[in-house]
Amino acid sequence: MRPFSDYHMHTPLCGHAVGEPEEYVRQAIKVGLKEIGFSDHAPLLSYDDPSITMSRTQLPQYHKMIEDVRKKYPQIRILTGIEADFLPGYEKETKELLAGYPYDYVIGSVHFIKSWAFDNPDHREEWMKKDVNRVYRDYYEVLRQSAASGLFTVLAHVDLVKKFGNMPTEDFSAEVAKTAKVFKSAGVLIEINTSGLRKPVKEIFPSLANLKVYQKAGVPITFGSDAHDPQDVGRDFDKGAAWAKEAGYKEYVLLRNRKIDRSVKL
Ligand code: ZN
Ligand code: FE
Ligand code: FE
Ligand code: ZN
Repeated sequence: MRPFSDYHMHTPLCGHAVGEPEEYVRQAIKVGLKEIGFSDHAPLLSYDDPSITMSRTQLPQYHKMIEDVRKKYPQIRILTGIEADFLPGYEKETKELLAGYPYDYVIGSVHFIKSWAFDNPDHREEWMKKDVNRVYRDYYEVLRQSAASGLFTVLAHVDLVKKFGNMPTEDFSAEVAKTAKVFKSAGVLIEINTSGLRKPVKEIFPSLANLKVYQKAGVPITFGSDAHDPQDVGRDFDKGAAWAKEAGYKEYVLLRNRKIDRSVKL
């Protein structure tokens, strides 16, 4: 069955998404979803960039927007999530920021290796100067730290490093297995993020080979379109479900209050 929950979608507050929350909700209803969650980019703590995340002063507005659509559309369940960057050295501030409101889940994202926003199209040319294998090693290291930080419920797009199609020449399977173990013992989940199909790499995050490793390690999954445009809500969830099944998953999970609420058969 096609998953009925989409836990990853944005709002215009992050400065690089279009459409009002109401349009995301209407699209969700239209494509038959029963449960969605907003997960816009939480204020970045290392510096301010209105084209990457909302600012601290916009947080109340973010929560009000979700509250409003929840009241207006009782026919669909609308959860409160947020996507927060993992920034080594800012763990305490991140924890405080995330304690400011009750969340159904917090999606943790690694978008930075040191201060390089490696998936930002504006900084893509940096890749030319890098050793791709080294970038992948660094990425997985930060990803494990993000899981172990205890800040997050779900980790987003867990091979985002492939976004522009830069592929390593070394075999990373041992690195991924090590990462899966850390996820499992930290109790974090991962998402099947279909936005990869809309990026240069044209592949779901994570890859099928990686997903098999997470499945073997017993790491549960959620589904997310990572929509930055209402038309992408629930997009390619049929492919996402097939991907998960092929990796051996039999179910995905629903979340409440930063915990697994229940599992749903795939
Ligand atoms: Zn974004
Ligand atoms: Fe992200
Ligand atoms: Fe996102
Ligand atoms: Zn994302």
